[in-house]
Amino acid sequence: MNLVVMKFGGTSVEDPAAIGRTAAIVAGRVAQGKSPIVVVSAMAKVTDQLLRAAAAASEGDRTGALAISSRLRARHRDTASSLVNNAGDCAALLTTIDEKFDALDEVLRGLSVIRELTPRISDLIVSYGERLSSRIVTAAFRERAIDAAHVDAREVIVTDSEFQKAAPLDDLIEKRAQEKLLPLTRVGQVPVMGGFIASNEAGLTTTLGRGGSDYTGALVGGAVDAEAIEIWTDVDGILTADPRVCPEALRVKVISFEEAAELAYFGAKVLHPATILPAVKKNIPVYVLNSRNAACEGTRIISVAPHSQSPFKSIAVKKKLTIMDIVASRMLLSHGYMSKMFAVFDKHKCPVDMVSTSEVSVSLSVDSNASLPEIAADLRTLADVTYEGKKALVCLVGENIRGQNGIAAQVFGAIRHINVRMISQGASEINMSFMIDEDDADEAVRSLHAAFFQNPDPAVFDVGR
Ligand code: ASP
Ligand code: MG
Repeated sequence: MNLVVMKFGGTSVEDPAAIGRTAAIVAGRVAQGKSPIVVVSAMAKVTDQLLRAAAAASEGDRTGALAISSRLRARHRDTASSLVNNAGDCAALLTTIDEKFDALDEVLRGLSVIRELTPRISDLIVSYGERLSSRIVTAAFRERAIDAAHVDAREVIVTDSEFQKAAPLDDLIEKRAQEKLLPLTRVGQVPVMGGFIASNEAGLTTTLGRGGSDYTGALVGGAVDAEAIEIWTDVDGILTADPRVCPEALRVKVISFEEAAELAYFGAKVLHPATILPAVKKNIPVYVLNSRNAACEGTRIISVAPHSQSPFKSIAVKKKLTIMDIVASRMLLSHGYMSKMFAVFDKHKCPVDMVSTSEVSVSLSVDSNASLPEIAADLRTLADVTYEGKKALVCLVGENIRGQNGIAAQVFGAIRHINVRMISQGASEINMSFMIDEDDADEAVRSLHAAFFQNPDPAVFDVGR
């Protein structure tokens, strides 16, 4: 049925102009004979502001929380009014918006009395972002002659009850998607739903975690067996490096799921890593596209990597990391030591990025965070611990490094002027990462880019840029 899931991020629905561009892009797909299912994020920054309102209310600052809500109400009302000219439709939309904000204000008032922000209440509060944006986008589409139908995402995306990071229940989602979405697309309608938000089996509102709208897009695409999933954002796709750091960065035209997932973990903000999974399982291509530059072909993410002359597809960097060195001569030749050590990180819910070990020492990198002194104190019951912040992880990703000799020498040759603290080549064999001082990171990226993207393969990179 030519089903295409089109997910639009916050910047693609941030104001009337953006929503107008989004409508034109969807109308274009319809004109091509496609059946779009549209998934939208909250308008840019709205999720953050809702979380701020929740935090204020839970600290007893009722006035502050309601002031944030009232600014958001005005922004949504203004956007709606400027998009929908038909007087009746506009009035109905404004009523819907007001009802939602009235309900939200009630929650905020209650929270300011109870002063306990549970994950469940937090999800209820942030859900308003997507509930509102999806209503406004639906009305704007209808105004522009797209036969759009609003669908409450919470009736389609069913999850467990892990509020704030709920796990989807695939079988139920498949069933619901076929019941709620396909009857619409079959008669030529365009379903519009919020990303990120979901509900558990009892019908309570949950969310898939920050940035989760991409995940919704992939889940829906998988559930209806879409021919493609399009992630519309505000960049031209996946690039070989951050263009702010490296102006020579090129668009990657095609990349494998594994490579894209690897990059996503390393903070390439384009895509939520979990997006990958539901699409991979069903072999559905994912496109990353720019809603400000719809003519650009973007990046196509497919299950099997294209062959490329270039060893790497992209260079990603993650900053604000801390290296912990744990030296335990007492533990020499004893067993169970690693497990005790990792139990400490587990206890503090602190994810570990990179690990390298010798017989008596372990170095690992973690996101710099407020619990580091406590983590170090707990670890000191096992070993000597020192830690140092302001580190960056540089990660080069590419399937073509598998089994290639001499790549490491080329990488470290290119940055021979920079002091490297830790090195790892992942088991996946498609990434090489190393840790350096944050201050050296930009220079490292530029040197590596100059070394590895000198003669980019035109089949894989947009060399015309
Ligand atoms: N609005 C949510 C967030 O900001 C989900 C998303 O945009 O993907 O995290
Ligand atoms: Mg996003």
